[in-house]
Amino acid sequence: MGHINIIQGDITKIKADAIVNAANTTLMGGGGVDGAIHRAAGPALYSACEKFHGCPTGEARITGGFNLPARFIIHTPGLVWHGGNNDEDQLLANSYRNSLQLADQHLCKTVAFPSISTGVYAFPLERAAKIAITTIKDFLLTANYVDVVMMVCFDSQTFKAYQAQIY
Ligand code: ADP
Repeated sequence: MGHINIIQGDITKIKADAIVNAANTTLMGGGGVDGAIHRAAGPALYSACEKFHGCPTGEARITGGFNLPARFIIHTPGLVWHGGNNDEDQLLANSYRNSLQLADQHLCKTVAFPSISTGVYAFPLERAAKIAITTIKDFLLTANYVDVVMMVCFDSQTFKAYQAQIY
């Protein structure tokens, strides 16, 4: 069955089996949560990511956690918001689904997500929260290993938006 926990905090500090990085298609680091994860994991993460030669939006790639408390980091380029009529909802859902699938394949029980695409990528927060929670709930119905999914919200506005979706 599994369940979803909404928490407020810094995802780089979370001791989950896997944390998810809201990356960009280069997978070579950037600002926001991506920058924070690369800084905390250390330079070996950059070398590990180089080998992928990028990643399309909505797909996911996995590396070790290096200096993070998490065992794995799953990198998924979120969707850049372009008004809502360009498959945005599906592509954002793909990021969550593909990340969870990779975690499950790597026998992860606990997975932590940031709020993908709602920072610099400007996806409307409520709409993103609804897609995230629906996609995670659907996945938990058929997961083999993933049991606890944490949504790690950096600020209180994001925390409230995700919490509103589960009650
Ligand atoms: P995107 O480019 O996918 O929009 P951002 O990193 O700009 O990604 O923002 C995504 C979300 O991650 C935002 O809600 C931002 O506040 C949040 N965020 C930034 N740093 C961290 C962190 N260390 N832990 C968790 N969430 C974070």
